[in-house]
Amino acid sequence: MLKYLINLLFPKLCLGCNSLLLHNETIICSECNHNLPYTKHHFLERNDTTIKFYGIVPIEFSASMLYFHHKGIVQNLIHNLKYKNHQEIGTLLGKRYAKDLEAVNQIKTITEIIPVPLHKKRLEERGYNQVITFCEALSEELKIPLNDSLLYRSRYSKTQTKKDKESRKDVSNALFDINFTEADSNKHFLLIDDVLTSGATLEACAKALLKIPNSKVSIITIAYTLS
Ligand SMILES: [Zn+2]
Repeated sequence: MLKYLINLLFPKLCLGCNSLLLHNETIICSECNHNLPYTKHHFLERNDTTIKFYGIVPIEFSASMLYFHHKGIVQNLIHNLKYKNHQEIGTLLGKRYAKDLEAVNQIKTITEIIPVPLHKKRLEERGYNQVITFCEALSEELKIPLNDSLLYRSRYSKTQTKKDKESRKDVSNALFDINFTEADSNKHFLLIDDVLTSGATLEACAKALLKIPNSKVSIITIAYTLS
């Protein structure tokens, strides 16, 4: 009864389309669920995501989970995840994607999950790294440890606001570095970011990780921007 009243007074809205959620729906409505634009990248050795890095930095396996369309469901989900503290979106998507990734051979050799770090200052402003719940869900489901202290952002990039399109020039100002010991050698890292646009951030992160002796890098992003 109390739950019914709370729902009546504070109706829950779908984080993909803002429509009213039914009592049996959580986070996203059935229609959004049905219309989520899955890329199916993990079935393809050569996909939109791998092409971004081809000839630029050696990546073992890369895939994005969803296609990001302007004003689409995924744009709303990412916005709610990134700016509205709806971290449960990351958990939901991570759990779901883990089921697809379980079948991928390269994923079986991953030793650590590495979230693309925010700069300390940005982390303090936002209070959380928007990819962390996605990473935690993958870590839990795939039984791969998460390491958020190895890679760090060494410079704050003011140019990367939500309206600015990420460009390679911007990212050259945001350098990434690693904090590693010999024990971090011979590992296969799974680097994770929210949205893949130019690929410059992930390229810089991958290059930093590849400085570790005998390391390998794979990449997963929640969304891929068609631009
Ligand atoms: Zn919806």
